[in-house]
Amino acid sequence: MSDGAATSPNDGLDGFEPVIGLEIHVQLSTATKMFCSCPLSFGEPPNTYTCPVCLGLPGSLPVVNARAIHFGLMIGLALECELAPRSSFHRKNYFYPDLPKGYQISQYDEPLCRGGRLGEVRIHRAHLEEDAAKLVHVGTSGRIHGSDVSVVDFNRGGTPLVEIVTEPDLHDPVRAREWLELLRTTLRQLGVSDVNMEEGSLRCDANVSIRLGGSVALGTKTELKNMNSFRFLERGIRAELARQAELLRAGEPVVQETLHFDPQTGKLSALRSKEEAHDYRYFPEPDLVPIQIDEDMVAAARAQLPELPAARVERYESEFGLTAASARHLAFRVELGAYFEAALAELARAGDGHGGVDAAPVQIDPAVAQQLANWISGELVRRLGEEDPADSRVAPAQLARLVALISQRAITAGAGRQVLDRMVQQGGDPEGIVETEGLGAIASGDEALAGVVAAAIEAHQGAAEKIKAGNAKAMGPIIGYVMRETKGRADGAEVSRLVRAQLGLEN
Ligand code: ADP
Ligand code: ZN
Ligand code: MG
Repeated sequence: MSDGAATSPNDGLDGFEPVIGLEIHVQLSTATKMFCSCPLSFGEPPNTYTCPVCLGLPGSLPVVNARAIHFGLMIGLALECELAPRSSFHRKNYFYPDLPKGYQISQYDEPLCRGGRLGEVRIHRAHLEEDAAKLVHVGTSGRIHGSDVSVVDFNRGGTPLVEIVTEPDLHDPVRAREWLELLRTTLRQLGVSDVNMEEGSLRCDANVSIRLGGSVALGTKTELKNMNSFRFLERGIRAELARQAELLRAGEPVVQETLHFDPQTGKLSALRSKEEAHDYRYFPEPDLVPIQIDEDMVAAARAQLPELPAARVERYESEFGLTAASARHLAFRVELGAYFEAALAELARAGDGHGGVDAAPVQIDPAVAQQLANWISGELVRRLGEEDPADSRVAPAQLARLVALISQRAITAGAGRQVLDRMVQQGGDPEGIVETEGLGAIASGDEALAGVVAAAIEAHQGAAEKIKAGNAKAMGPIIGYVMRETKGRADGAEVSRLVRAQLGLEN
């Protein structure tokens, strides 16, 4: 099956229902590490941001980062979790070169947050822990005794993480990707993390199983480790679902194991068989006292919750009448939503006539709000890419006035695009650009337009015959001719009306 197939994402699974649960690691953007006062590192020279605590030297003692707990509580509140009144840390023991202590300080039976929900997915738990150091594979350049070499950079070791574990509530790879996007935009809006998948500040493991449609029992799952982009997450899950369906069709069992998805080849390979909690010999961290979460801490976290994307999507739909897709697009990129609302405020002021901050709110025509949303999501984003429109030359008020000119038919959409090109490149007011470039719409009934239409028909006799024979689609080249001649200033509907009239057809 190809990526992004237009068909349903679960086609080809022969009636098996996918079951997907995600485990997400979020690096918190605190100033310092989870249990020591080393600053967080962003690409500094290796092993320069370390101390006895995060190097795991004997006799050093961890101290909990209060800001990490605060961020953890904000995440818990945003995910509608139950916050633990008492929370404690455990040692999760295992050996690996990126883990100098021989254990990771994590949480076990008293996580900071339990239960909860984001969109259609229930949250099982969210807990605090520390990140491991980073293994850097230097490969052949560092060969020792003929083998490839890996080195360890301890700068990342001890970075605060929140691990979020969902219930297995997702049932197709596309929704899994969309849900992770919702989670990312929510975390970004909270301001608790950079949430950059490529850089590893947001990492996702996907647990995947299939079962016969209609059955409630869960099938055996596999775990796809460390998907580092949204696209790979979707593709990896898709590939694993197909692999499992193939096994079950052949009457073979799915083996519980941890897998790696290689986005280059699209292949899945086994990393290790699944470990159980008892393999880690979890035991309470003796160097840290349990944390007591009091009302003041919860209140402080709550006070810093902004309006979250899910709520914003709903508000854009109910308050401004935007389509779901449009509301989602604007709400998920905070800066686009802010720009949209600023532009809307301008339209409201203009419609109101007298303006001013104290003016009563004006009802904005949903069609105009939608048109504005479309111009932001479509034309403006196409020109600015990832740039925040607030940093562009186009002020929200100017875009609002451009859209108003189009909705009032003072200019055509085609001319509007040319005006926007100018605004993006050089700045300026839409009215001024329309004036200097001569882009005002040709008024209906304009004699000159009738002349251009006549010339267009003359130049496209064949098309004209087809239109007369009832083929309305043949209009294309004639309209194209008129648009070229008028620099896009003619109204398309008006032109096709004129064409039909000049060909003696009814309108
Ligand atoms: P484990 O003990 O193997 O770590 P958990 O019960 O802790 O498993 O679940 C880990 C993650 O796997 C959770 O996100 C959960 O929703 C998901 N999960 C559990 N069972 C299944 C299953 N059968 N199919 C898909 N996902 C599952
Ligand atoms: Zn340190
Ligand atoms: Mg688990």
